Amino acid sequence: MPLPLITDDSLFPDAPTIAIKQLEAVWFQVGGTICNLRCHHCFISCTPENDKFKFMTLQMCRRFLDQAKELGAKEYYFTGGEPFANPDMIDILELTLSKYGPATVLTNATILTEEKLTRLGQMATANEHHLEIRVSLDGYTRDMNDPIRGPGTFDRAIAGIKALVQHGFQPILTITRTWNDCDEKVLKGFVALLAGIGYAQPRLKILPSIKLGAEVDRTSGYTETDRITHDMMQQKDPAQFLCHTSRLVTDQGVWVCPILLDSTHARMSDSLQGAMHDYPLRHSACYTCWQHGAICSNNTTSCTTANN
Ligand code: SF4
Ligand code: SF4
Repeated sequence: MPLPLITDDSLFPDAPTIAIKQLEAVWFQVGGTICNLRCHHCFISCTPENDKFKFMTLQMCRRFLDQAKELGAKEYYFTGGEPFANPDMIDILELTLSKYGPATVLTNATILTEEKLTRLGQMATANEHHLEIRVSLDGYTRDMNDPIRGPGTFDRAIAGIKALVQHGFQPILTITRTWNDCDEKVLKGFVALLAGIGYAQPRLKILPSIKLGAEVDRTSGYTETDRITHDMMQQKDPAQFLCHTSRLVTDQGVWVCPILLDSTHARMSDSLQGAMHDYPLRHSACYTCWQHGAICSNNTTSCTTANN
């Protein structure tokens, strides 16, 4: 008999807590839960119709950037939903890069217009702070990607990646592990694909699937064995957890991290200053962080083997 699935109403009561050491990175849910795609593994179930979290405006972002600066934050991440669906996105990036620090945008690269690409290229060269682009793609063929991300998404994302490379970017490709093959074979497939569109020595990042949102219907959710105990935390350096050094800001306040956006228990405060306190790792998704470390960071998978 399968183990009962864990929902937001059945959190582990005696979970260990994690302190925030120093606010180093701030994540912006700048695209809300609105996305032009409707991927079957999206752990916050973004779709064109899902406006549970709305776009963040330039004014909202400026308020949180000021708070972050006061707290000593060093870098900024912009996610969604699809950030480039937000009409303020280019202005938000220009503000961040010119006055606050380095920025990373997580995009599906399917709605990048020539005008946006040109402005992105200009701001990347005009500012001392670095602009990083991360593109999600889940297969090195149409047959591998499109069943997960939707018909036609492979061709559209490849066109977006090619255009980014032509505008001087070296995007990080993020790939959710949805295959049964060994990683090496998949990495080799991606390297060959990207070489064919002019992106030599690509930067690749493999992510574990997070069993929340739409992913629960595609595969399965977490069970009661997926939890962090006090003993398990003894074996881990807290620096391995994103919530030790960062917070997520949204149009509805501050959350502990981007993974738990759909959990009302993960809302911490109206302000970043109010969210600088310990957090209990009582959600089953925390177990994925315990297994895989800071999965949201920009660290990439080594491609040495895949290049051979
Ligand atoms: S996984 Fe990314 S691209 Fe896909 S629906 Fe979710 S936010 Fe959009
Ligand atoms: S899901 Fe991960 S980042 Fe979020 S609170 Fe749990 S351990 Fe921290």
